[in-house]
Amino acid sequence: MSYRGYEPVIGIEIHVQLQTHSKMFCADATNFDAADNENVSPVSAGMPGTLPVVNKRAIEFGIKTGLALGCSIRRKSVFARKNYFYPDMPKGYQISQYEQPICENGKVTFKVNGVDKTVNISRAHLEEDAGKSNHSGAHTLINLNRAGIPLLEVVTGPDLRSPAEAAEYGRTIRQIVRYLDVCDGNLEEGSLRCDCNVSVRKIGAEQFGTKVEIKNVNSFRFVEKAIEYEIERQIDELERGGKIVQETRLWDPDKNRTFSMRSKEDAQDYRYFPDPDLLPLIVSDQWIEQLRRELPELPIARAKRFQDEHGLPESDAQVLTIEKSVADYYESTAQVSKNHKASANWIMSELMRELNTANMEIDRSPIKPSQLGKMIAMIDAGTISGKMAKTVFQEMWESGKEPDVIVKEKGLVQITDTSAIEKIIDEVLANNAQAVEDHKSGKKKNLFGFFVGAVMKASKGQASPDLVNKILQEKLK
Ligand code: ADP
Ligand code: MG
Repeated sequence: MSYRGYEPVIGIEIHVQLQTHSKMFCADATNFDAADNENVSPVSAGMPGTLPVVNKRAIEFGIKTGLALGCSIRRKSVFARKNYFYPDMPKGYQISQYEQPICENGKVTFKVNGVDKTVNISRAHLEEDAGKSNHSGAHTLINLNRAGIPLLEVVTGPDLRSPAEAAEYGRTIRQIVRYLDVCDGNLEEGSLRCDCNVSVRKIGAEQFGTKVEIKNVNSFRFVEKAIEYEIERQIDELERGGKIVQETRLWDPDKNRTFSMRSKEDAQDYRYFPDPDLLPLIVSDQWIEQLRRELPELPIARAKRFQDEHGLPESDAQVLTIEKSVADYYESTAQVSKNHKASANWIMSELMRELNTANMEIDRSPIKPSQLGKMIAMIDAGTISGKMAKTVFQEMWESGKEPDVIVKEKGLVQITDTSAIEKIIDEVLANNAQAVEDHKSGKKKNLFGFFVGAVMKASKGQASPDLVNKILQEKLK
């Protein structure tokens, strides 16, 4: 992609809210639907004299994510105080990790327009979230429910080179943390928050330009748009002979532009120092190895296996691995049906259509994978036709009944007995002697479909369409 002779340089910081039941340093609950300030103890409220205690599950989630991103895990990491005042952070500092983060030096590979892109993860560190300020009219209300919820901040190197790459990177991180079950990935609720660092340089230049940070972009579509806007704005500025000032900007989705929030001059010196209330965090080799063994197969590996071992086309493999729940559903279905491609097809077309219409997650599907698998096996065995299967599918969706029960109740039997079908065909041909003449003399084209229709009708839709086609073709030669 060309930007008037300039090249964009982009680095992303993503805050991943870890879905532990309790907070990073105390036992307060973390549920999003709690009433205002319901999940607040003296620790979350930052009362003097309270002491933080580390949540082991948050460490576990942090390590798992780090491992999935190919990071090395520090055996000893250190929590530090990042000092600044903000009304939604009553302690006057945030507990974070600074010089010794738990995860470092990873990388993640994903596809952008069919091409592999690899991005370095320079670090991923644990920290606590701040509370929330709700501004209304002349008042600001503080809700500390979020204060102290564990976050993992995942930071890339300045390795991304286009808005599309940045958005795809974000989607990949979301997909991975959802596979790991460490974060629900809900951007609207703030479970994932993206900061985009953007600079431009003349193509061929070695030095990076001055970067601007766009904070808290809350959808990947906006990540793409905000970076696109920012690249053009910076190039305009440079072309005009101006200079880029290092600053923090925000994305305005209504006006489709970024605007300045604060400049580097207002940036704070956070005066980081190790938190004296917390000992260094030491993790054992055994624990790390145990967590490594517990990692699920990740989306890229799983999609590759679906292609190599199940013979699925790349596009199917990709669709089926977007969510772990969908991939699990597909594998369970295929295990029962013994037909990979048909299982993929039924899930991607019929099932996904119904799920979309009902706005339902696949976990809630009234049709269980074993039922869909059984139905597909019945088609392959010739018990029901593809057309009957659509009726069975619909009935399964509505009633959740087993496919064989539905087949029995509805009297859906496919006639696969050749002599029975032959008998029906002979009758149909005898009753349509003129049409047979026309067909054989070539006087009228396309009569074949007419015969198929007539035979299917005479069999009350029960004759095997494959056999009808085959036998008709012979008889009309
Ligand atoms: P800061 O100290 O300002 O937070 P960091 O060095 O921590 O800066 O980098 C923050 C993010 O910005 C990282 O993702 C990094 O890759 C990215 N970044 C650093 N320099 C540049 C640059 N010149 N252009 C674009 N992104 C950059
Ligand atoms: Mg930084």
